[in-house]
Amino acid sequence: MANTFAFVESRSGELRRVGLEAVTAARRLADATGGGEVHALVMGAPGISAKAEMIGAYGADVVEVVEHAGLALYSPEVVAATAAARIGDGSYRAAFFSASAQGKDLAPRVAAKLGVSLGADVTAFETSGDAIVVRHPVNTGKVIATLSITGTPVLLSLRPGSVTAERAPRTPRVATIAPAIDPAAARVVPRELLAGNTAKLDLGEAPVIVSGGRGLRAPENFKLVEDLAAAFGNAAVGATRAVTDDGWRPHTDQIGQTGRLVSPDLYIACGISGAIQHLAGMRTSKTIVAINKDREAPIFKIADYGVVGDVLEILPVLTEAVRKAKQSH
Ligand SMILES: Cc1cc2nc3c(=O)[nH]c(=O)nc-3n(C[C@H](O)[C@H](O)[C@H](O)COP(=O)(O)OP(=O)(O)OC[C@H]3O[C@@H](n4cnc5c(N)ncnc54)[C@H](O)[C@@H]3O)c2cc1C
Repeated sequence: MANTFAFVESRSGELRRVGLEAVTAARRLADATGGGEVHALVMGAPGISAKAEMIGAYGADVVEVVEHAGLALYSPEVVAATAAARIGDGSYRAAFFSASAQGKDLAPRVAAKLGVSLGADVTAFETSGDAIVVRHPVNTGKVIATLSITGTPVLLSLRPGSVTAERAPRTPRVATIAPAIDPAAARVVPRELLAGNTAKLDLGEAPVIVSGGRGLRAPENFKLVEDLAAAFGNAAVGATRAVTDDGWRPHTDQIGQTGRLVSPDLYIACGISGAIQHLAGMRTSKTIVAINKDREAPIFKIADYGVVGDVLEILPVLTEAVRKAKQSH
């Protein structure tokens, strides 16, 4: 009965949803392979240990905490060295990371240090005998590769949103450990994190994304997209590259091959044609709704629900319907 490892991402002293998704994934794998323990690692500035209980609430039996003033920002060398040391010591079946911006930097470093396989940007996984079988979108998501990965430990980075974080309460054993290398001795020292609009829900964290394209006609019409997102209450606003390139929206809102990769529960595409580069970033969303006046628009090929019509007329009606539905619950 092997144990499973989860790296729990945090930022500014708070756990990220993708971090809890990694814990849930580790819990599922441990339960599916005979009920081994889940060991989680969280690293951050002093105070991050207060989050150990929450990590236990999502299914970790052991939470190892590294607290250091030099870890207020993600420090690639220190975090990779510490995670590799912990995983290397643990005889783990698998180790879960997120394929977030941070995880895309971290997981390959850890895999290289340990000389083990990494299934990157994974949208689903299961065990099959000695192997862990994963699904991994390639070619801008037009092809889903199924990879069978053997050896131990197998490292997996999960596409944000591909696993829903679920509570599985435990009272974890908490241990404070030292970083594998002194943050002051790292060759790369992060100085500053420039966040876009920190008041907004992050695209990688939001269960609902309302996204707009050139079909909105003018930047001021994004107000309609924002209104719908606000009506949901738990939604973020995304955009196509056509509109970020035109300066209607910040580049941080861009979804697609050269933007963010997202897998929310619900993705509403408003006036978006469905170019392959855009689909690459959102086609793994669980439910896709498209609004487009052109019934031949490619976005309808991957949409679960389609509305053919003028987005400027439909959005206010939809927003009102969502508001009413929210009020009645
Ligand atoms: C190397 C490369 C990388 C790229 N990376 C990305 C990326 O990461 N993300 C990305 O999004 N794009 C990317 N692109 C650009 C991509 O190819 C498309 O040009 C872009 O996604 C189109 O954006 P759009 O759907 O907003 O605009 P358009 O393709 O112009 O589509 C607008 C849509 O709105 C509809 N419409 C118009 N008026 C209305 C109305 N009143 N009501 C309802 N519907 C209406 C139209 O029917 C049309 O389908 C990339 C391109 C290249 C070459």
